[in-house]
Amino acid sequence: MPEQAADAPHLDMVIRAERAMLPEGPSAAEIGVRDGRIAVVADLGTGLTGEEVLDLSAEQVLLPGLVDTHVHVNDPGRTEWEGFGTATRAAAAGGVTTLIDMPLNSLPPTVDVDALEEKRRTAEPKAFVDVGFWGGAIPGSTEHLIPLHREGVYGFKSFLSDSGVEEFPPLSPAELERDMAVLAEADSLMIVHAESPRALESAPAAEGRSYGSFLSSRPREAENEAIRAVIEAARRTGCRAHILHLSSAEALEDIAAAREEGVRLTVETCPHYLVLSAEEVPEGATTFKCCPPIREESNRRALWEGLRAGVIDCVVSDHSPSTAELKLLDGGDFGGAWGGISSLQLGLSLMWTEAQRQGVDLADAVRWMSSAPARIAGVADKGRIAEGCSADFAVFDPHARWDVRADDLWHRNRITAYDAREVLGRVDRTILRGRTVDFTTPHGRLLRRSG
Ligand SMILES: [Zn+2]
Repeated sequence: MPEQAADAPHLDMVIRAERAMLPEGPSAAEIGVRDGRIAVVADLGTGLTGEEVLDLSAEQVLLPGLVDTHVHVNDPGRTEWEGFGTATRAAAAGGVTTLIDMPLNSLPPTVDVDALEEKRRTAEPKAFVDVGFWGGAIPGSTEHLIPLHREGVYGFKSFLSDSGVEEFPPLSPAELERDMAVLAEADSLMIVHAESPRALESAPAAEGRSYGSFLSSRPREAENEAIRAVIEAARRTGCRAHILHLSSAEALEDIAAAREEGVRLTVETCPHYLVLSAEEVPEGATTFKCCPPIREESNRRALWEGLRAGVIDCVVSDHSPSTAELKLLDGGDFGGAWGGISSLQLGLSLMWTEAQRQGVDLADAVRWMSSAPARIAGVADKGRIAEGCSADFAVFDPHARWDVRADDLWHRNRITAYDAREVLGRVDRTILRGRTVDFTTPHGRLLRRSG
């Protein structure tokens, strides 16, 4: 690590931490920031000087800003569900400094360049963190894939089953493969909501207040079968594919085998599948409804094994909010309620609380939520504390215990499956491009895939 010479160029900010989560592991370090980038990573005690100096307390850990590649902001069009102002403040409060917005549930969906431009215009003045975009692949949109790719989307989201909104219909396996052949040419990425419509149709329909009824309506086999179809399409086209929000641990075996044979496949899961289990969902608690569903405790443990073994690459929120009316909170009918869990602001604390119980290091939990998703999506210079990277940080106190209160969250709708839950670890400060996020003046920027 270099020492700062007397004539070294000026630094805007210096952060001193007894524990900084560097790519090679935790280390006592001084970080020098210039023009929004990490200019120097030096040993603690080097004595870097800068305009602003931040000395972390002995309890605080300096983390890279987290990268959440699975967020439904729903703006423009369904801003009663969420919006860029609320979503990006929630992100910042949770230590997330980069989010990639999903192409559906906004109106219009991001399936052509005009829609992408509208989204960018909407997001830019309200972004408290950096924001990038996924494009969408729906039937009939093939001609828009390459133009969207050239405009800098990070890849394309598709469904194999009903998405829940009519303007974003699913692809058939043949359409998926045809679009992946197009994306392979551009070395883009297809990210897939993998549940098979055939398996869902042959399962009993969900109804009433029983979580068991909902769980049986979305069997593991629906995921397993759809994941096999994605693997097939990736194998035949050579396209990179990414499995979104893996819930069924049974699919881990097929995923590991496909990767072993060289299929270009990555996998994410979400805090709710790692923290919650079907057995604990109360009757009528539709805040816990999401698709694919939260499964049994044995499945949850197997997902942790998948993470430890490296078969699951990363952990992202799948923050998918809606209004209390659509969640049917009053009646608690699992059949009719909107499926989606809000956790953008809570992901790190939830993960750290459970990681500790599982004997997993903070370094691993943070890697799954920062450098790993950044690498998969191709978000350059994010998610790592390294020279040349964006100066994005979360100052985290891993020992702080607190109770989640839905009413205190920045989310537009203060509805969460984690209300009243005690968690461990709190984000004390979030720094984006070398400036502390102040929640009143947005200084996030829009991101484009480069290269
Ligand atoms: Zn989603």
